[in-house]
Amino acid sequence: MSARPAAPAASAALSAASADPAPGATDGPLPVLGRDVLVPLVTGGEVTYAALDYAASAPALQRVWDDVAAYAPYYGSVHRGAGYLSQLSTDLFENSRAAVARFLGCRDEDQVVFTRSTTDSLNLLASALPHGTRVFVFETEHHASLLPWQQRAGVDVTYLGAPRAPEQAVEALERALAAREPYGPALVCVTGASNVTGELWPVRELAAAAHARGARIVLDAAQLVPHHPVDIGALDVDWVAFSGHKLYAPFGSGVLAGRADWLRDAEPYLAGGGASRTVSRRADGGVDVDWHTTAARHEAGSPNVIGVHAIASACKALTEAGFDALVAREQRLLARLREGLARVPEVKVLSLFGEDAPRVGVISFVVEGWNSSHFAAALSAEYGIGVRDGLFCAHPLVRTLLGGEPEPPGECGAPDAAPGEPSLNAIRVSFGAGTPDEHIDRFADAVQQLVRDGARWSYRTEDGRCVPDRGTTVA
Ligand code: PLP
Repeated sequence: MSARPAAPAASAALSAASADPAPGATDGPLPVLGRDVLVPLVTGGEVTYAALDYAASAPALQRVWDDVAAYAPYYGSVHRGAGYLSQLSTDLFENSRAAVARFLGCRDEDQVVFTRSTTDSLNLLASALPHGTRVFVFETEHHASLLPWQQRAGVDVTYLGAPRAPEQAVEALERALAAREPYGPALVCVTGASNVTGELWPVRELAAAAHARGARIVLDAAQLVPHHPVDIGALDVDWVAFSGHKLYAPFGSGVLAGRADWLRDAEPYLAGGGASRTVSRRADGGVDVDWHTTAARHEAGSPNVIGVHAIASACKALTEAGFDALVAREQRLLARLREGLARVPEVKVLSLFGEDAPRVGVISFVVEGWNSSHFAAALSAEYGIGVRDGLFCAHPLVRTLLGGEPEPPGECGAPDAAPGEPSLNAIRVSFGAGTPDEHIDRFADAVQQLVRDGARWSYRTEDGRCVPDRGTTVA
């Protein structure tokens, strides 16, 4: 990457940087950025940060960072410039599209559209629905997959209740589809793995049920792609949406991949340069636009080439590390985590499909007698562990799981709920390919200690967040 080679050779050099074998296929974590970051403890001293909030945003793989750094000196405009670096950047951008298509097992006729995130991808698809589309969505979805549909005029949304078993989900969908026949275009939207419970949804079966009734299906794979291979053809889903920042590529990009026809027929998601092939003035003073029919139709404006390169790099890194090894390791850590939590009777793990339902490395729980925000704040301030507390942008699901009406948490430090009463919000721990065993053990030990001995510091609410009270000494 040091010499300035001719364009094709430079592209080859960049691909070669990406082709360095990813460390993996071992039982250890993949190297990620931030693995040695020290954070202060409120009780004194420092400790390496245990990032256990992968479901929100995962740290970048070192390999992704290296690939981005290798490309950075060659950064240039995409699709526009005549210059060497523009050509190189355009190659890189389009090669990244091909890499994502390979990662997802796209069919020949599928399109890969680069977006900002899963939310953006699903809003794009919602904007492309043919008039009169019927949408079927479970109320248990993340808000990103729950909400975009009802925003569209001419779209009729059916919300399905929370199923308590994967088979119930399939039956509920079959019933809902049958009850609304006949219909024209129809779309089912479902998550692959819940961002609250981590539980896997029966995607293949739901796809079969949808297709049997002439409906299409989009998979919200935000929480699935970082943990499992996702093959669009094998799952037989029509579209897949995901975000780079949950796939170890936190550079502001996302993907919508799948069937081209609805996307090709829709108005461009954003109007502007890049989406248009030609623009000409009309005699009456207006303008005529000939829009692209490829993915570019929905990618107006200068694209995020760094983010797209990062996603492609992450796809390659995970593929080379081997999903079999990654899944096996994650399941081993999950078992260890669950054993740790099971040692604390006050901990109640949230689940829709039951204790033994298969899940990815995401667990939400409540602790009897504890305010979840207080608990999460103490894990951070006293143990250097980063988890998430709240309702996780899935309010209806969390409401179902908590068995009550979640409300904004009250003053932290105060008990969340009297024993026997439902908790108001939850704590989520999530991990992935970069998580060392030690983080899981530290977390399980910290939960045990906090429940047994209580917090060693006092906390107060500031701007709605629970924070350590700086003026207080250790109890
Ligand atoms: N879908 C699921 C299942 C998620 O967990 C999330 C984010 O947490 C999203 C969609 C939205 O992702 P983003 O915020 O990257 O758009």
